[in-house]
Amino acid sequence: MLGNLVRGDLLRSLNFIAGQWRPAAGGQELAVIDPATLQAVAQVADSGADDARAALEAAQAAFPAWRGRTGRERAQLLKKWHALIVAHQEDLARIISSEQGKPLAEARGEVLYGASYVEWFAEEATRTHGELIPEPVRGRKLMAVNEPVGVVAAITPWNFPLAMIARKLAPALAAGCTVVAKPAEDTPLTAAALVALAQEAGFPPGTINLVLASRARTPEVVDVWLADPRVRKITFTGSTPVGKHLARASAQTLKKLSLELGGNAPFIVFEDADLAAAVEGLMVSKFRNGGQTCVCPNRVYVHEAVHDRFVELLAARVAALHVGPATDPRSQIGPMINARAVDKIDRHVRDALARGARVVTGGRILQAPDVPGRGHYYAPTVLVGATPDMELACEETFGPVVPVFRFAGEEEVVRLANDTPFGLAAYFFSRDAARIWRVADQLEAGIVGVNEGALAAEAAPFGGVKESGYGREGSRHGLEDYQHVKYVCQGGL
Ligand code: NAD
Repeated sequence: MLGNLVRGDLLRSLNFIAGQWRPAAGGQELAVIDPATLQAVAQVADSGADDARAALEAAQAAFPAWRGRTGRERAQLLKKWHALIVAHQEDLARIISSEQGKPLAEARGEVLYGASYVEWFAEEATRTHGELIPEPVRGRKLMAVNEPVGVVAAITPWNFPLAMIARKLAPALAAGCTVVAKPAEDTPLTAAALVALAQEAGFPPGTINLVLASRARTPEVVDVWLADPRVRKITFTGSTPVGKHLARASAQTLKKLSLELGGNAPFIVFEDADLAAAVEGLMVSKFRNGGQTCVCPNRVYVHEAVHDRFVELLAARVAALHVGPATDPRSQIGPMINARAVDKIDRHVRDALARGARVVTGGRILQAPDVPGRGHYYAPTVLVGATPDMELACEETFGPVVPVFRFAGEEEVVRLANDTPFGLAAYFFSRDAARIWRVADQLEAGIVGVNEGALAAEAAPFGGVKESGYGREGSRHGLEDYQHVKYVCQGGL
Protein backbone atom coordinates (compact mmCIF):
# COMPACT_ATOMS: atom_id res chain seq x y z
CA MET A 1 0.00 0.00 0.00
CA LEU A 2 1.39 3.33 -1.10
CA GLY A 3 -0.19 5.00 1.94
CA ASN A 4 2.11 3.03 4.26
CA LEU A 5 5.25 3.98 2.33
CA VAL A 6 4.74 7.69 1.80
CA ARG A 7 4.21 10.66 4.13
CA GLY A 8 0.40 10.72 4.32
CA ASP A 9 -0.21 14.37 3.52
CA LEU A 10 1.71 14.09 0.26
CA LEU A 11 -0.92 11.75 -1.14
CA ARG A 12 -3.39 14.31 -2.43
CA SER A 13 -6.37 13.49 -4.57
CA LEU A 14 -8.00 16.91 -4.96
CA ASN A 15 -7.52 20.05 -7.00
CA PHE A 16 -5.45 22.83 -5.46
CA ILE A 17 -7.12 26.17 -6.13
CA ALA A 18 -6.54 29.49 -4.37
CA GLY A 19 -4.50 27.76 -1.68
CA GLN A 20 -7.14 25.11 -0.88
CA TRP A 21 -7.55 21.43 -1.72
CA ARG A 22 -10.98 21.07 -3.32
CA PRO A 23 -12.90 18.22 -4.98
CA ALA A 24 -14.03 18.66 -8.57
CA ALA A 25 -17.09 20.95 -8.70
CA GLY A 26 -19.16 18.14 -10.25
CA GLY A 27 -17.93 15.56 -7.69
CA GLN A 28 -16.56 13.22 -10.37
CA GLU A 29 -13.52 11.05 -9.73
CA LEU A 30 -10.89 9.28 -11.78
CA ALA A 31 -8.96 6.11 -10.87
CA VAL A 32 -5.15 6.19 -10.93
CA ILE A 33 -3.79 2.82 -12.04
CA ASP A 34 -0.45 1.19 -11.21
CA PRO A 35 0.76 -0.03 -14.63
CA ALA A 36 2.63 -2.93 -13.00
CA THR A 37 -0.44 -4.43 -11.34
CA LEU A 38 -3.40 -2.74 -13.10
CA GLN A 39 -4.75 -2.08 -9.59
CA ALA A 40 -6.14 1.33 -8.66
CA VAL A 41 -3.70 3.25 -6.45
CA ALA A 42 -6.07 6.13 -5.73
CA GLN A 43 -9.19 8.02 -6.81
CA VAL A 44 -8.61 11.66 -7.71
CA ALA A 45 -10.73 14.61 -8.78
CA ASP A 46 -11.98 14.52 -12.37
CA SER A 47 -12.50 18.18 -13.11
CA GLY A 48 -14.36 20.22 -15.69
CA ALA A 49 -14.89 23.77 -16.90
CA ASP A 50 -16.01 25.19 -13.53
CA ASP A 51 -12.80 24.02 -11.84
CA ALA A 52 -10.70 25.40 -14.69
CA ARG A 53 -12.42 28.79 -14.33
CA ALA A 54 -11.94 28.83 -10.55
CA ALA A 55 -8.24 28.04 -10.97
CA LEU A 56 -7.85 30.80 -13.55
CA GLU A 57 -9.65 33.36 -11.33
CA ALA A 58 -7.29 32.45 -8.47
CA ALA A 59 -4.18 32.73 -10.65
CA GLN A 60 -5.31 36.05 -12.06
CA ALA A 61 -6.09 37.42 -8.59
CA ALA A 62 -2.66 36.35 -7.27
CA PHE A 63 -0.69 37.74 -10.20
CA PRO A 64 -0.27 41.45 -9.24
CA ALA A 65 1.15 40.70 -5.78
CA TRP A 66 3.38 37.87 -7.03
CA ARG A 67 4.86 39.93 -9.86
CA GLY A 68 5.30 42.75 -7.33
CA ARG A 69 7.67 40.67 -5.20
CA THR A 70 11.36 41.08 -5.82
CA GLY A 71 13.26 38.35 -7.60
CA ARG A 72 15.05 37.63 -4.35
CA GLU A 73 11.75 37.09 -2.50
CA ARG A 74 10.53 34.72 -5.20
CA ALA A 75 13.90 32.95 -5.11
CA GLN A 76 13.63 32.35 -1.36
CA LEU A 77 10.35 30.45 -1.80
CA LEU A 78 11.72 28.47 -4.73
CA LYS A 79 14.76 27.51 -2.63
CA LYS A 80 12.52 26.32 0.22
CA TRP A 81 10.51 24.29 -2.28
CA HIS A 82 13.71 22.80 -3.70
CA ALA A 83 14.90 21.78 -0.23
CA LEU A 84 11.54 20.12 0.52
CA ILE A 85 11.58 18.19 -2.77
CA VAL A 86 15.09 16.90 -2.06
CA ALA A 87 14.18 16.04 1.54
CA HIS A 88 11.19 14.00 0.29
CA GLN A 89 13.04 12.27 -2.53
CA GLU A 90 12.01 8.81 -1.35
CA ASP A 91 8.31 9.65 -0.90
CA LEU A 92 8.15 11.31 -4.30
CA ALA A 93 10.02 8.46 -6.00
CA ARG A 94 7.55 5.94 -4.59
CA ILE A 95 4.61 7.98 -5.85
CA ILE A 96 6.19 8.31 -9.32
CA SER A 97 6.90 4.58 -9.56
CA SER A 98 3.46 3.54 -8.37
CA GLU A 99 1.54 5.52 -10.96
CA GLN A 100 4.06 5.66 -13.82
CA GLY A 101 5.96 2.39 -13.39
CA LYS A 102 9.61 3.41 -13.73
CA PRO A 103 12.06 1.51 -11.52
CA LEU A 104 12.55 3.11 -8.13
CA ALA A 105 16.22 4.00 -8.76
CA GLU A 106 15.21 5.93 -11.86
CA ALA A 107 12.35 7.60 -10.03
CA ARG A 108 14.80 8.81 -7.36
CA GLY A 109 16.92 10.23 -10.16
CA GLU A 110 13.90 11.98 -11.65
CA VAL A 111 13.16 13.69 -8.31
CA LEU A 112 16.66 15.18 -8.15
CA TYR A 113 16.58 16.05 -11.84
CA GLY A 114 13.25 17.91 -11.43
CA ALA A 115 14.52 19.58 -8.26
CA SER A 116 17.60 20.84 -10.11
CA TYR A 117 15.33 23.02 -12.28
CA VAL A 118 13.70 24.51 -9.19
CA GLU A 119 17.11 25.38 -7.78
CA TRP A 120 18.36 26.71 -11.11
CA PHE A 121 15.37 29.01 -11.58
CA ALA A 122 15.55 30.15 -7.95
CA GLU A 123 18.97 31.48 -8.90
CA GLU A 124 17.80 32.87 -12.25
CA ALA A 125 14.95 34.74 -10.50
CA THR A 126 17.52 37.20 -9.19
CA ARG A 127 19.08 37.76 -12.63
CA THR A 128 16.26 39.04 -14.80
CA HIS A 129 18.38 41.97 -15.93
CA GLY A 130 17.10 44.39 -18.54
CA GLU A 131 19.18 46.73 -20.70
CA LEU A 132 20.06 50.39 -20.74
CA ILE A 133 20.27 51.19 -24.45
CA PRO A 134 22.64 53.94 -25.66
CA GLU A 135 20.29 56.73 -26.79
CA PRO A 136 20.30 57.51 -30.53
CA VAL A 137 18.88 61.00 -29.81
CA ARG A 138 20.13 63.35 -27.07
CA GLY A 139 17.82 64.02 -24.11
CA ARG A 140 16.29 60.58 -23.88
CA LYS A 141 16.84 57.40 -21.88
CA LEU A 142 16.03 54.08 -23.51
CA MET A 143 15.46 50.95 -21.44
CA ALA A 144 14.34 47.38 -22.05
CA VAL A 145 12.93 45.57 -19.04
CA ASN A 146 11.81 41.95 -18.69
CA GLU A 147 8.31 41.45 -17.32
CA PRO A 148 6.36 38.27 -16.47
CA VAL A 149 3.86 37.43 -19.22
CA GLY A 150 0.98 36.88 -16.77
CA VAL A 151 -1.04 33.74 -16.04
CA VAL A 152 0.54 30.61 -17.52
CA ALA A 153 -1.30 27.35 -18.29
CA ALA A 154 0.98 24.29 -18.00
CA ILE A 155 -0.07 20.95 -19.51
CA THR A 156 2.26 18.04 -18.86
CA PRO A 157 2.74 14.40 -19.89
CA TRP A 158 3.01 11.21 -17.86
CA ASN A 159 6.52 10.07 -18.79
CA PHE A 160 8.35 12.32 -16.29
CA PRO A 161 5.48 13.21 -13.96
CA LEU A 162 7.65 15.28 -11.62
CA ALA A 163 10.37 16.72 -13.84
CA MET A 164 8.05 17.95 -16.59
CA ILE A 165 5.89 20.00 -14.27
CA ALA A 166 8.88 21.27 -12.24
CA ARG A 167 10.54 22.39 -15.49
CA LYS A 168 7.51 24.57 -16.23
CA LEU A 169 6.42 25.80 -12.80
CA ALA A 170 9.89 26.83 -11.63
CA PRO A 171 10.69 29.26 -14.47
CA ALA A 172 7.12 30.60 -14.55
CA LEU A 173 7.19 31.38 -10.82
CA ALA A 174 10.74 32.73 -10.99
CA ALA A 175 9.71 35.14 -13.74
CA GLY A 176 6.77 36.38 -11.64
CA CYS A 177 3.96 34.51 -13.42
CA THR A 178 1.18 32.63 -11.69
CA VAL A 179 0.17 29.19 -12.93
CA VAL A 180 -2.77 26.93 -13.68
CA ALA A 181 -1.57 23.37 -14.31
CA LYS A 182 -3.14 20.18 -15.63
CA PRO A 183 -0.96 17.07 -15.28
CA ALA A 184 -1.43 13.92 -17.37
CA GLU A 185 -4.42 11.79 -16.40
CA ASP A 186 -2.17 8.75 -15.81
CA THR A 187 0.06 10.50 -13.25
CA PRO A 188 -1.80 13.13 -11.19
CA LEU A 189 -0.50 12.00 -7.77
CA THR A 190 3.09 13.12 -8.38
CA ALA A 191 1.98 16.58 -9.49
CA ALA A 192 -0.29 16.88 -6.45
CA ALA A 193 2.54 15.85 -4.09
CA LEU A 194 4.84 18.41 -5.67
CA VAL A 195 2.21 21.10 -5.20
CA ALA A 196 1.66 20.00 -1.58
CA LEU A 197 5.37 20.68 -1.00
CA ALA A 198 5.03 24.08 -2.70
CA GLN A 199 2.19 24.85 -0.30
CA GLU A 200 4.43 23.83 2.60
CA ALA A 201 7.19 26.08 1.23
CA GLY A 202 4.76 28.99 1.56
CA PHE A 203 3.86 30.14 -1.94
CA PRO A 204 0.95 32.59 -1.63
CA PRO A 205 -2.55 31.22 -2.40
CA GLY A 206 -3.34 31.38 -6.13
CA THR A 207 0.26 31.43 -7.39
CA ILE A 208 0.09 27.69 -8.17
CA ASN A 209 -3.23 26.07 -9.05
CA LEU A 210 -3.61 22.43 -9.99
CA VAL A 211 -6.57 20.91 -11.82
CA LEU A 212 -6.78 17.13 -12.26
CA ALA A 213 -8.83 15.63 -15.09
CA SER A 214 -9.36 12.41 -17.03
CA ARG A 215 -8.43 12.22 -20.69
CA ALA A 216 -12.10 12.56 -21.64
CA ARG A 217 -12.60 15.73 -19.59
CA THR A 218 -9.18 17.32 -20.24
CA PRO A 219 -10.40 19.30 -23.28
CA GLU A 220 -13.20 20.79 -21.13
CA VAL A 221 -10.56 22.13 -18.72
CA VAL A 222 -7.98 23.24 -21.25
CA ASP A 223 -10.55 24.85 -23.58
CA VAL A 224 -11.46 27.31 -20.80
CA TRP A 225 -7.83 28.38 -20.56
CA LEU A 226 -7.36 28.47 -24.33
CA ALA A 227 -10.36 30.72 -24.86
CA ASP A 228 -9.66 33.16 -22.02
CA PRO A 229 -7.49 36.17 -22.89
CA ARG A 230 -6.22 36.34 -19.30
CA VAL A 231 -4.11 33.23 -19.89
CA ARG A 232 -1.09 34.76 -21.60
CA LYS A 233 0.96 31.67 -22.16
CA ILE A 234 0.55 27.94 -22.73
CA THR A 235 3.46 25.66 -21.96
CA PHE A 236 2.98 22.08 -23.12
CA THR A 237 4.95 18.84 -23.34
CA GLY A 238 3.34 15.91 -25.11
CA SER A 239 2.35 14.67 -28.54
CA THR A 240 2.61 16.71 -31.73
CA PRO A 241 -1.11 16.48 -32.63
CA VAL A 242 -2.15 17.93 -29.26
CA GLY A 243 0.60 20.58 -29.54
CA LYS A 244 -0.74 21.65 -32.94
CA HIS A 245 -4.26 21.80 -31.55
CA LEU A 246 -3.07 24.08 -28.72
CA ALA A 247 -1.23 26.33 -31.21
CA ARG A 248 -4.34 26.66 -33.39
CA ALA A 249 -6.70 27.24 -30.49
CA SER A 250 -4.52 29.80 -28.72
CA ALA A 251 -4.14 31.84 -31.92
CA GLN A 252 -7.56 33.34 -31.15
CA THR A 253 -6.08 35.27 -28.20
CA LEU A 254 -2.45 35.25 -29.48
CA LYS A 255 -0.95 33.57 -26.45
CA LYS A 256 2.75 32.96 -26.11
CA LEU A 257 3.52 29.24 -26.55
CA SER A 258 6.22 26.76 -25.58
CA LEU A 259 5.69 23.37 -27.20
CA GLU A 260 7.92 20.41 -26.44
CA LEU A 261 6.53 17.73 -28.72
CA GLY A 262 7.34 14.34 -30.10
CA GLY A 263 10.71 13.42 -31.53
CA ASN A 264 12.15 10.81 -33.89
CA ALA A 265 15.77 10.96 -32.80
CA PRO A 266 18.48 9.48 -35.00
CA PHE A 267 21.51 7.82 -33.34
CA ILE A 268 24.43 7.42 -35.73
CA VAL A 269 27.42 5.15 -35.18
CA PHE A 270 30.21 6.04 -37.63
CA GLU A 271 32.91 3.58 -38.62
CA ASP A 272 35.47 5.53 -36.53
CA ALA A 273 33.37 5.43 -33.34
CA ASP A 274 34.46 3.91 -30.05
CA LEU A 275 31.97 1.03 -30.27
CA ALA A 276 31.91 0.26 -26.55
CA ALA A 277 31.15 3.92 -25.80
CA ALA A 278 28.48 3.99 -28.52
CA VAL A 279 26.75 0.92 -27.07
CA GLU A 280 26.88 2.48 -23.61
CA GLY A 281 25.51 5.78 -24.98
CA LEU A 282 22.65 3.97 -26.67
CA MET A 283 21.78 1.95 -23.56
CA VAL A 284 21.62 5.15 -21.50
CA SER A 285 19.64 7.18 -24.00
CA LYS A 286 17.33 4.48 -25.33
CA PHE A 287 16.33 2.48 -22.29
CA ARG A 288 15.84 5.22 -19.70
CA ASN A 289 12.20 5.11 -18.65
CA GLY A 290 11.69 1.98 -20.76
CA GLY A 291 12.19 3.99 -23.94
CA GLN A 292 9.33 6.35 -23.09
CA THR A 293 11.34 9.54 -23.43
CA CYS A 294 10.91 12.21 -26.07
CA VAL A 295 14.69 12.37 -26.64
CA CYS A 296 15.07 8.57 -26.94
CA PRO A 297 16.88 7.42 -30.07
CA ASN A 298 14.18 6.07 -32.37
CA ARG A 299 16.34 5.19 -35.40
CA VAL A 300 19.83 3.74 -34.98
CA TYR A 301 22.08 4.06 -38.04
CA VAL A 302 25.24 1.95 -37.97
CA HIS A 303 28.00 2.08 -40.59
CA GLU A 304 28.23 -1.18 -42.54
CA ALA A 305 31.88 -1.67 -41.54
CA VAL A 306 30.99 -1.93 -37.83
CA HIS A 307 27.35 -3.04 -38.10
CA ASP A 308 27.65 -6.68 -37.12
CA ARG A 309 30.06 -6.07 -34.24
CA PHE A 310 27.90 -3.25 -32.88
CA VAL A 311 24.71 -5.33 -33.08
CA GLU A 312 26.42 -8.21 -31.30
CA LEU A 313 27.61 -5.98 -28.43
CA LEU A 314 24.25 -4.22 -28.21
CA ALA A 315 22.12 -7.38 -28.29
CA ALA A 316 24.10 -8.90 -25.40
CA ARG A 317 23.41 -5.83 -23.27
CA VAL A 318 19.74 -5.58 -24.25
CA ALA A 319 19.01 -9.28 -23.70
CA ALA A 320 20.44 -8.95 -20.17
CA LEU A 321 18.08 -6.12 -19.13
CA HIS A 322 15.84 -7.10 -16.24
CA VAL A 323 12.18 -6.35 -16.84
CA GLY A 324 9.83 -6.12 -13.89
CA PRO A 325 7.88 -3.92 -11.49
CA ALA A 326 9.36 -0.81 -9.91
CA THR A 327 9.23 -2.47 -6.53
CA ASP A 328 11.78 -5.13 -7.59
CA PRO A 329 15.26 -3.63 -7.07
CA ARG A 330 16.58 -5.71 -10.00
CA SER A 331 14.21 -4.04 -12.49
CA GLN A 332 15.84 -1.93 -15.19
CA ILE A 333 12.77 -1.74 -17.43
CA GLY A 334 9.36 -1.24 -15.85
CA PRO A 335 5.92 -1.60 -17.38
CA MET A 336 4.78 0.70 -20.20
CA ILE A 337 2.33 3.36 -19.13
CA ASN A 338 -0.87 1.77 -20.47
CA ALA A 339 -2.38 -0.69 -22.93
CA ARG A 340 -2.44 1.97 -25.69
CA ALA A 341 1.35 2.30 -25.40
CA VAL A 342 1.97 -1.46 -25.67
CA ASP A 343 -0.37 -1.70 -28.66
CA LYS A 344 1.59 1.01 -30.48
CA ILE A 345 4.97 -0.65 -29.77
CA ASP A 346 3.70 -4.04 -30.90
CA ARG A 347 2.12 -2.54 -34.03
CA HIS A 348 5.48 -0.94 -34.95
CA VAL A 349 7.37 -4.20 -34.45
CA ARG A 350 4.82 -6.28 -36.43
CA ASP A 351 4.92 -3.76 -39.26
CA ALA A 352 8.76 -3.82 -39.33
CA LEU A 353 8.82 -7.63 -39.43
CA ALA A 354 6.26 -7.70 -42.24
CA ARG A 355 8.51 -5.31 -44.21
CA GLY A 356 11.67 -7.41 -43.81
CA ALA A 357 13.21 -6.59 -40.42
CA ARG A 358 14.55 -9.42 -38.24
CA VAL A 359 14.41 -9.80 -34.46
CA VAL A 360 17.80 -10.19 -32.78
CA THR A 361 16.37 -10.14 -29.27
CA GLY A 362 12.94 -9.43 -27.76
CA GLY A 363 10.15 -8.54 -30.16
CA ARG A 364 7.16 -9.51 -28.03
CA ILE A 365 4.72 -8.50 -25.33
CA LEU A 366 5.75 -9.95 -21.95
CA GLN A 367 3.20 -11.62 -19.73
CA ALA A 368 3.22 -13.95 -16.72
CA PRO A 369 5.20 -16.06 -15.99
CA ASP A 370 7.97 -13.93 -17.65
CA VAL A 371 6.90 -10.96 -15.53
CA PRO A 372 4.86 -10.88 -12.33
CA GLY A 373 1.32 -9.48 -12.35
CA ARG A 374 -0.81 -8.32 -15.24
CA GLY A 375 1.22 -5.21 -16.12
CA HIS A 376 1.86 -3.66 -19.53
CA TYR A 377 5.31 -5.04 -20.33
CA TYR A 378 7.23 -5.21 -23.60
CA ALA A 379 10.49 -7.10 -24.06
CA PRO A 380 13.61 -4.97 -24.71
CA THR A 381 14.11 -5.45 -28.43
CA VAL A 382 16.76 -5.14 -31.13
CA LEU A 383 15.70 -5.37 -34.78
CA VAL A 384 18.06 -5.40 -37.75
CA GLY A 385 17.25 -4.69 -41.37
CA ALA A 386 15.19 -1.58 -40.62
CA THR A 387 14.24 0.57 -43.62
CA PRO A 388 12.72 4.06 -44.02
CA ASP A 389 9.30 2.78 -45.17
CA MET A 390 8.61 1.16 -41.76
CA GLU A 391 6.23 2.81 -39.29
CA LEU A 392 8.94 2.85 -36.64
CA ALA A 393 11.12 4.99 -38.91
CA CYS A 394 8.40 7.61 -39.34
CA GLU A 395 6.88 7.90 -35.87
CA GLU A 396 8.33 7.56 -32.36
CA THR A 397 7.73 4.10 -30.93
CA PHE A 398 8.00 5.29 -27.31
CA GLY A 399 9.11 1.91 -26.02
CA PRO A 400 12.18 -0.33 -25.55
CA VAL A 401 12.75 -1.08 -29.23
CA VAL A 402 15.99 -0.42 -31.15
CA PRO A 403 15.65 -0.65 -34.94
CA VAL A 404 19.08 -0.81 -36.59
CA PHE A 405 19.55 0.69 -40.07
CA ARG A 406 22.73 0.03 -42.07
CA PHE A 407 24.45 2.91 -43.92
CA ALA A 408 27.53 3.39 -46.09
CA GLY A 409 28.40 7.10 -46.18
CA GLU A 410 28.29 10.32 -44.13
CA GLU A 411 26.25 12.35 -46.59
CA GLU A 412 23.74 9.55 -46.95
CA VAL A 413 23.25 9.11 -43.20
CA VAL A 414 22.87 12.83 -42.50
CA ARG A 415 20.20 13.00 -45.22
CA LEU A 416 18.40 9.97 -43.71
CA ALA A 417 18.69 11.37 -40.17
CA ASN A 418 17.11 14.67 -41.26
CA ASP A 419 14.40 13.00 -43.33
CA THR A 420 11.66 13.47 -40.74
CA PRO A 421 9.28 16.29 -39.82
CA PHE A 422 10.66 16.10 -36.25
CA GLY A 423 13.79 17.67 -34.78
CA LEU A 424 14.16 17.24 -31.02
CA ALA A 425 17.34 15.26 -30.26
CA ALA A 426 20.01 13.65 -32.44
CA TYR A 427 23.08 11.64 -31.41
CA PHE A 428 26.24 10.47 -33.11
CA PHE A 429 29.44 8.71 -32.18
CA SER A 430 32.68 9.47 -34.01
CA ARG A 431 36.35 10.11 -33.16
CA ASP A 432 37.03 12.30 -36.21
CA ALA A 433 37.23 15.95 -35.05
CA ALA A 434 36.39 17.41 -38.45
CA ARG A 435 33.45 15.08 -38.89
CA ILE A 436 32.15 16.01 -35.43
CA TRP A 437 31.89 19.69 -36.42
CA ARG A 438 30.44 18.89 -39.86
CA VAL A 439 27.75 16.50 -38.67
CA ALA A 440 26.77 18.51 -35.55
CA ASP A 441 26.32 21.49 -37.85
CA GLN A 442 24.14 19.62 -40.35
CA LEU A 443 21.78 17.71 -38.07
CA GLU A 444 18.34 19.33 -37.89
CA ALA A 445 17.68 19.03 -34.16
CA GLY A 446 17.36 21.28 -31.12
CA ILE A 447 19.66 19.02 -29.08
CA VAL A 448 22.71 17.14 -30.35
CA GLY A 449 24.66 14.54 -28.38
CA VAL A 450 28.22 13.88 -29.60
CA ASN A 451 29.77 10.78 -28.03
CA GLU A 452 27.22 11.17 -25.22
CA GLY A 453 23.81 9.65 -24.54
CA ALA A 454 22.64 11.57 -21.45
CA LEU A 455 22.13 15.20 -22.44
CA ALA A 456 19.51 16.83 -20.24
CA ALA A 457 20.75 19.34 -17.66
CA GLU A 458 19.06 22.27 -15.95
CA ALA A 459 21.81 24.61 -17.16
CA ALA A 460 21.27 23.70 -20.84
CA PRO A 461 18.50 24.77 -23.24
CA PHE A 462 16.19 21.82 -23.97
CA GLY A 463 13.77 21.98 -26.90
CA GLY A 464 13.16 21.16 -30.53
CA VAL A 465 12.98 22.47 -34.07
CA LYS A 466 10.57 21.62 -36.92
CA GLU A 467 7.47 19.74 -35.69
CA SER A 468 9.11 18.94 -32.36
CA GLY A 469 8.03 22.41 -31.29
CA TYR A 470 9.60 25.61 -30.02
CA GLY A 471 10.62 27.24 -26.77
CA ARG A 472 13.41 26.12 -24.46
CA GLU A 473 13.37 24.69 -20.94
CA GLY A 474 16.37 25.14 -18.63
CA SER A 475 19.26 27.62 -18.97
CA ARG A 476 18.73 31.39 -19.07
CA HIS A 477 16.55 30.88 -22.17
CA GLY A 478 14.08 28.95 -20.03
CA LEU A 479 13.24 32.11 -18.11
CA GLU A 480 12.86 34.25 -21.25
CA ASP A 481 10.02 31.98 -22.34
CA TYR A 482 7.93 33.33 -19.43
CA GLN A 483 8.78 36.99 -19.97
CA HIS A 484 8.10 39.71 -22.45
CA VAL A 485 10.34 42.66 -23.11
CA LYS A 486 9.02 46.15 -22.43
CA TYR A 487 10.77 49.10 -24.00
CA VAL A 488 10.60 52.28 -21.93
CA CYS A 489 11.67 55.59 -23.41
CA GLN A 490 11.99 58.60 -21.14
CA GLY A 491 12.28 61.99 -22.80
CA GLY A 492 12.78 65.58 -21.62
CA LEU A 493 16.18 64.98 -20.03
P1 NAD B 1 -0.73 13.58 -25.21
O1 NAD B 1 -0.18 14.70 -26.01
O2 NAD B 1 -2.04 13.03 -25.60
O3 NAD B 1 -0.87 14.05 -23.67
C1 NAD B 1 -0.04 15.01 -23.04
C2 NAD B 1 -0.90 15.96 -22.21
O4 NAD B 1 -1.85 16.62 -23.05
C3 NAD B 1 -1.71 15.26 -21.12
O5 NAD B 1 -1.77 16.09 -19.98
C4 NAD B 1 -3.08 15.16 -21.75
O6 NAD B 1 -4.13 15.09 -20.82
C5 NAD B 1 -3.15 16.46 -22.51
N1 NAD B 1 -4.14 16.45 -23.59
C6 NAD B 1 -4.56 15.38 -24.32
N2 NAD B 1 -5.50 15.78 -25.21
C7 NAD B 1 -5.66 17.12 -25.04
C8 NAD B 1 -6.49 18.10 -25.66
N3 NAD B 1 -7.32 17.80 -26.64
N4 NAD B 1 -6.41 19.36 -25.22
C9 NAD B 1 -5.55 19.69 -24.25
N5 NAD B 1 -4.74 18.82 -23.62
C10 NAD B 1 -4.79 17.54 -24.02
O7 NAD B 1 0.36 12.47 -25.12
P2 NAD B 1 0.14 10.94 -24.66
O8 NAD B 1 -1.16 10.37 -25.07
O9 NAD B 1 0.42 10.94 -23.23
O10 NAD B 1 1.26 10.22 -25.50
C11 NAD B 1 1.08 9.98 -26.90
C12 NAD B 1 2.38 10.12 -27.62
O11 NAD B 1 2.90 11.45 -27.39
C13 NAD B 1 3.48 9.21 -27.13
O12 NAD B 1 3.42 7.95 -27.71
C14 NAD B 1 4.69 9.99 -27.53
O13 NAD B 1 4.96 9.77 -28.89
C15 NAD B 1 4.28 11.43 -27.34
N6 NAD B 1 4.73 11.97 -26.03
C16 NAD B 1 5.76 12.82 -26.04
C17 NAD B 1 6.22 13.32 -24.84
C18 NAD B 1 7.35 14.26 -24.78
O14 NAD B 1 8.01 14.31 -23.75
N7 NAD B 1 7.60 15.05 -25.82
C19 NAD B 1 5.63 12.94 -23.65
C20 NAD B 1 4.55 12.07 -23.68
C21 NAD B 1 4.12 11.60 -24.89
